Amino acid sequence: MLLLSIVTWFWWQPALERCRTFELGWIAEIYLRNLFLMIVVAGGLHLLLYTFKNQGKERKFDSRDLACNNGAFLFRNQVWDNMFWTLASGVTIWTGFEILMFWGFANGYVSFLSWQENPYWFVALFLLQPIWGSLHFYWIHRFLHWPPLYRLAHGLHHRNINIGPWSGMSMHPVEHLLYLSTGMIHWVLLSHPIHFLFHMQVKALEAVTSHCGFETIMAKDKEIVPMGDFFHQLHHRYFECNYGTLEMPWDRWFGSFHDGSVEANERMRERRQRIFRKKD
Ligand SMILES: [Zn+2]
Ligand SMILES: [Zn+2]
Repeated sequence: MLLLSIVTWFWWQPALERCRTFELGWIAEIYLRNLFLMIVVAGGLHLLLYTFKNQGKERKFDSRDLACNNGAFLFRNQVWDNMFWTLASGVTIWTGFEILMFWGFANGYVSFLSWQENPYWFVALFLLQPIWGSLHFYWIHRFLHWPPLYRLAHGLHHRNINIGPWSGMSMHPVEHLLYLSTGMIHWVLLSHPIHFLFHMQVKALEAVTSHCGFETIMAKDKEIVPMGDFFHQLHHRYFECNYGTLEMPWDRWFGSFHDGSVEANERMRERRQRIFRKKD
């Protein structure tokens, strides 16, 4: 991901001078780049794991196939539905945040941190991104489970109980806005556009890899790349647990941690009963 953000900044990004005013040319370049990245990563993983069935069901979390002929999804098809929300809403809002930020950088509304100025802080910012990302995601996600917001937005993502690569960024536009607002910290935190690109690409593309439905990508019966996220897979299976990510122990601190064991399941049930008793 780091390499991708460096390559993007040096060779795949419109020059900053062009970003001073909102013009179709540079905006379209960023949009097409993000569209391409999303199609390659999500489409590539889908083709490998679900179309060509490269490793069958080996290391797959849920043995069922993705839903076909199911009225819960647009076009009665989970994959087509997920592709629609990912590409129409996800890529557009991801691009929207990038356009705003680069317009801010180009006009000097946001200052730059250069490598020469402070190389230690330059490196540290990459290491701090997962910590901020985890904090932001945990609280946004808890907020999305607030019943009115769940009904309005987050329920759309949760129709995917059994998940695939296209499910990761399959969200309601309101959820895309909240989820990707994490990158807006760069308006106030002194950083470089590479940090911002890294942050946005991690959020958009790791949502895809973490939802791929398989723990590991295999080749010739050998595990080659760890890919899926068992922790978040359990959130899709049981809903009221594992709201965060594993970079920070938010779920342990707030008692919603689930490791897939029978004991954790019992704890989650008790917690749920306590909440519902309180509501009654
Ligand atoms: Zn959720
Ligand atoms: Zn999810």
